[in-house]
Amino acid sequence: MLVVMKAQASPADIALVCERIQVLGFRPHIIPGEQRTAVGITGNSGPVDPAEFEQLHGVAEAIRVSKPYKLVSRETKPESTVVFVKGVPVGGEEIALCGGPCAVESRDQILASARAVKAAGGQLLRGGAYKPRTSPYSFQGLGEEGLRYLAEAREQTGLGIVTEAVDTESIDLVEDYADCIQIGARNMQNFSLLRRAGRAKKPVLLKRGMSSTLEEFLMAAEYILSEGNYNVILCERGVRTFADHSRNTLDLSVVPAVKTLSHLPIIVDPSHGTGKRDKVLPMALASVAAGAAGLIVEMHPAPERALSDGYQSLDPEEFAELASECRAIAELLRSRRRVPVGAL
Ligand code: PEP
Ligand code: MN
Repeated sequence: MLVVMKAQASPADIALVCERIQVLGFRPHIIPGEQRTAVGITGNSGPVDPAEFEQLHGVAEAIRVSKPYKLVSRETKPESTVVFVKGVPVGGEEIALCGGPCAVESRDQILASARAVKAAGGQLLRGGAYKPRTSPYSFQGLGEEGLRYLAEAREQTGLGIVTEAVDTESIDLVEDYADCIQIGARNMQNFSLLRRAGRAKKPVLLKRGMSSTLEEFLMAAEYILSEGNYNVILCERGVRTFADHSRNTLDLSVVPAVKTLSHLPIIVDPSHGTGKRDKVLPMALASVAAGAAGLIVEMHPAPERALSDGYQSLDPEEFAELASECRAIAELLRSRRRVPVGAL
């Protein structure tokens, strides 16, 4: 159920609607919009009677949301959401570019990576301090030491930090250090982690599970919003198919599909999406052309020595080329269509 307020509704009118929702035992979610504010209702197991709200002052209408996901739906919020990560808009006019190694391996490695991202015009630095690895014998990340190096890289360059929380134990520390908490593909349906991320004070980058449908992806985001964190960025990172020419199949058609169904920004990870260095640039360009709000790309100062995902990591020069080519595509689209790329 969505209670749509009239354009001239006052804050007191909105507060009264929220109070009524709470009295009924449900949770209100205030969703400000350009034209009007709406109040989403969650926590109800069955249908809510619209008459409960339609009589209240300032209410335009109370409507049922037809999709199983409510707060992430465009029905609930027609305007596209812009999520700010350390002041960097994701979902706005500009492409947001996040680069950095798969894992934080050392202080020197992450500081060199940060300088290279900055020099290429990127705004965000990625790097896992906690790594979800297929093998228990592979490098698992530096933990808090890695988070400290990321914080130092932020201090030196001003880049916002995106780093993964792999479980409900590590998320407290990740929340303290990061500007954006990444939830990885393997954890897309870790519902206790999603709920905890929903109570975090930082934005969340939610990666699509490697075999998840669009509806499962949006429902995972709904878990986060339902706990009160509305700053969620979705990320397509490839899905498992029969194809064996690439590590995953980058499902770019999910970008326009998400933009039809949801107001949340969606970015693309062409690194995990392809798993091969030579495919990262072409698929990054295609992502921008498909309307992605940004890119998250693996880049390592010396990919051949990387402790994880070196074969899909760009070197700093290749990353700079990707950044400039992607900006050129974004600029071309913007000048031709005269609309923000994120809203294409
Ligand atoms: C990552 O971005 O470091 C990562 C592990 O990606 P994914 O969760 O998409 O596999
Ligand atoms: Mn990786």
